Amino acid sequence: MKRVRHFASDNNSGICPEAWAALEEANHGHTPGYGEDPWTRKAANLIRDVFETKCEVFFVFNGTAANSLALASTCQSYHSILCHEFAHVENDECGAPEFFSNGTKVQLLPGKQGRLTPAGIEHAVLKRTDLHYPKPRAVTVTQATELGTVYTPDHLKAIRKAAKKHDLKIHMDGARFANAVAQLGVKPKDITWKAGVDILSLGATKNGTPVGDAVVFFNSNLAHEFEWRCKQAGQLASKMRYIAAPWVHLLRDGAWLRHAAHANQMAARLARALKKIKGVELLMPRQANGVFVELPLPVIDALHARGWHFYTFIGAGGARLMCSWDTTPEDVDAFAADLAELMANRKKLRPKTRKGKGR
Ligand SMILES: *Cc1c(COP(=O)(O)O)cnc(C)c1O
Repeated sequence: MKRVRHFASDNNSGICPEAWAALEEANHGHTPGYGEDPWTRKAANLIRDVFETKCEVFFVFNGTAANSLALASTCQSYHSILCHEFAHVENDECGAPEFFSNGTKVQLLPGKQGRLTPAGIEHAVLKRTDLHYPKPRAVTVTQATELGTVYTPDHLKAIRKAAKKHDLKIHMDGARFANAVAQLGVKPKDITWKAGVDILSLGATKNGTPVGDAVVFFNSNLAHEFEWRCKQAGQLASKMRYIAAPWVHLLRDGAWLRHAAHANQMAARLARALKKIKGVELLMPRQANGVFVELPLPVIDALHARGWHFYTFIGAGGARLMCSWDTTPEDVDAFAADLAELMANRKKLRPKTRKGKGR
């Protein structure tokens, strides 16, 4: 069955109405290129308003560039970056953080529910301090995490304590930052610079823009010559206004948080529905716009056969169901109804024969 929307990723959604209108509005006349245009200035100023502080703002094409260039600006090649073993930085960026930092080592730390812990950071720093081992210089946290959980301000303050004690800079991968803010009901500053974050990769594509993430430096020393780093990496957009304009329309009246809150609510609705189905176990508490659930393999195959797309390779081995700004209650209810029916009849389902497995 062909479906319009599914649960594969929040970046599978289209452009939200505000961003679409912004592109239309920006598409008149000539403006200077390379970020010298009024849209880019306005977008950067709106980001400063949102965070209620002075900060340096740069726009790049995507989250991989934002993360890897931000991390490169904290480190020398002989340093290391501490990150969670499930972090996008490690698993989904094809080595870009190491590449753009000329070889800085990314060191993986475990942590329950996708979060780093102060004890884990301390352990990683103290286990070797000699000059034969790369020197930890930065820690990166993902907010909301890859497993759909969030760091509270207290989590972050505890991480800051460990990080500052050992002179580590703190980077935040905020591909789903809006979902975390909406879930926690905090001000953006409470989970960034007030909690010790030096640099934020602020995503918007999963929240309704077509392209373009922001790198926000709360620690302006780290932004030194960052524009050159962006340009060299091929991350300085010539027609920057088309990256910046959607940000303006998303931020100026809070649409970014409305969309994120909606996606979170859809995920909450989905989690509630799934919990009621016998035999279905949530793997993680639902805290942002994703639901992680353990499902029998034949049921996963049958859901896919009914046209529901979702990933099963992420995180703790279950299925990941992502909700988006455009997910509807009807989408959620239809999925839950299909799943309930398949679970009730799962004894009749046969495992799909997988090529090469001889089943
Ligand atoms: C989507 C995502 C990114 C950004 O990925 P790009 O495809 O490079 O834009 C970064 N971090 C996390 C946790 C993500 O989910």
